Amino acid sequence: EAKLDLVTKSIKHFPDFPSKGILFRDICPILKDPGALTAVIDLFEEHVRQTHPQVELIVGLDARGFLFGPLLAQRLGVGFVLVRKKGKLPGPTVSVAYKLEYGEAAVEVQEDAVAPGEKVLLIDDLLATGGTMYAACELMKKQNAEVMGCMVVIELKELNGVEKLKPNTLFSLVQY
Ligand code: IMP
Repeated sequence: EAKLDLVTKSIKHFPDFPSKGILFRDICPILKDPGALTAVIDLFEEHVRQTHPQVELIVGLDARGFLFGPLLAQRLGVGFVLVRKKGKLPGPTVSVAYKLEYGEAAVEVQEDAVAPGEKVLLIDDLLATGGTMYAACELMKKQNAEVMGCMVVIELKELNGVEKLKPNTLFSLVQY
């Protein structure tokens, strides 16, 4: 499809970033090209309208989920909520810790951001091991939200993050 082609061509690849042996996939050129950005949002919108028309809230992951999430939420006529790294959100928050390659991190949401039973879709730029997205799903569960699915622009297949997310499902635009 032409839209997907445009998105794929706009992804840049940086070997050895942020450290040796890592091939970093960069979505910045998508944002610089209004046609590519529209294509990303079009493709997400088509997916949501076909698969999850009952969605009530888009939940974006720190930080690049914030670039796509609000645009999609506006298209769908629903709200947008931020899941942030620990310590960034004011007021009462709820958090979930998760393991990194070295050490631990935590994701947080404002306590009143998601209502019990609310139907949410999570969005980020990229799924690698799935650790971040899994923690965000746990956070939504903790708030008694109903996770309808997870969405990313890029899925790194060989890390098998999709397995970690089960029974939650993943929709990705581009796979490597
Ligand atoms: P995971 O928790 O291992 O799935 O890592 C996913 C998180 O790390 C996402 O929030 C991504 O933005 C970020 N990330 C990991 N690898 C890359 C990459 O190659 N490009 C851009 N972001 C990445």
